[in-house]
Amino acid sequence: MKMSLDHLVLRFPGPTPLPPSVERAMTLPMVARGPEMTEAIVSLSPKLKPIFGTKQEVAVMSGSGTASMETAIVNVTNSGDEVLVLVTGRFGELYASMCEAHLLHVHVLETEWGEAADPEAVKDYLKSHPNIKAVFATFCETSTGVINPMKDLAAVVHEYSDAVFIADGVSSVGGIAGNMDEWDIDILGTGSQKAMMTPPGLGFVAFSERAQEVAKQVTRGRFFFDYNKYIEQLAEGQSPFTPAVPLLNSLNASLDLMHEEGIENVFARHRLLSDMTRAAFKQWNIPLTASDETASPTITGAKADDFDVEELLAVVKKDFHIAIAGGLGKMAGKMLRIGHMGYCSPADALQYISALEIGLVRIGKKINLGEGIQAAQEVFLSTKKV
Ligand SMILES: *Cc1c(COP(=O)(O)O)cnc(C)c1O
Repeated sequence: MKMSLDHLVLRFPGPTPLPPSVERAMTLPMVARGPEMTEAIVSLSPKLKPIFGTKQEVAVMSGSGTASMETAIVNVTNSGDEVLVLVTGRFGELYASMCEAHLLHVHVLETEWGEAADPEAVKDYLKSHPNIKAVFATFCETSTGVINPMKDLAAVVHEYSDAVFIADGVSSVGGIAGNMDEWDIDILGTGSQKAMMTPPGLGFVAFSERAQEVAKQVTRGRFFFDYNKYIEQLAEGQSPFTPAVPLLNSLNASLDLMHEEGIENVFARHRLLSDMTRAAFKQWNIPLTASDETASPTITGAKADDFDVEELLAVVKKDFHIAIAGGLGKMAGKMLRIGHMGYCSPADALQYISALEIGLVRIGKKINLGEGIQAAQEVFLSTKKV
């Protein structure tokens, strides 16, 4: 039977499902440059700031999350500059390749997949490499479900170097407190299609005052991703190039939903989803990729040591139309990843945990029906008191 996409439940770590009001906002009438477009543009940054945890403006550009990261690179580095990329999984690797493509002298400090970057190691590295101009870290490493200690990393970068500290916030911003100003992150970027529960196609990025100064001095050629253009135009109520109007409208709707729920409540909901999901996997004796201390509120990774993960994901998709992701890069075929970010509620967690439990029984894994879902229910009851 061919499944209608209307029935497909996306639990990938992006793109993520859209709330109905966000979907509807995409169909609002088109507007051209003028007061209507200005309203769509200027209403975003004030609503994005508390989500990023910054007083700085947040530039919104057409493109995916990678566009926000490329904006970071081209605005604070000149070709040949030394940069340090903290690689904790697939997305760190991609970042290192992006820096190489921009002809930077790339240093890589790699951590075992499933572990978080170690601020002590970064400190030692910076002490012995005094010319590093920028340090890149993945806030939530989507390939493993690990959160890196951004506050501690930012602190060592600023204490032991003059480098700017750049955070890839794709898959974290919107689901986890960004705290950009408080933690002294210089550049925080993300995309629309993960925790921001907006269709793919927008990148958002904020620069600290330190990064803004560097961006003024950098001489490399840049045009579409010139940060200064976005900020200058934003002050005029404009965007430097024709913005993706339907996406701006849907972003406005999703930001309204987040503020209606309350940003702190949004973050607490993500933490609860992670706790419920992790409780089920622990009950099933399936090892999680991240420790309790480093687990991401937005995505859970689990290792398939004694079952066929592709078979499990196929069964859950066929029987329940729930799409769960497998591993990336060297973890392909060895793990699964559940995105519980953006438009995802505890009811949704009960749904995918229950479906996974049936799937595990179907593929012959020795678990008891009901034990995982019960563990998740207990987490819910102990967290959400009436
Ligand atoms: C998804 C993701 C990206 C890539 O984002 P695109 O929107 O596909 O460009 C980069 N970094 C992280 C951490 C991600 O989760």
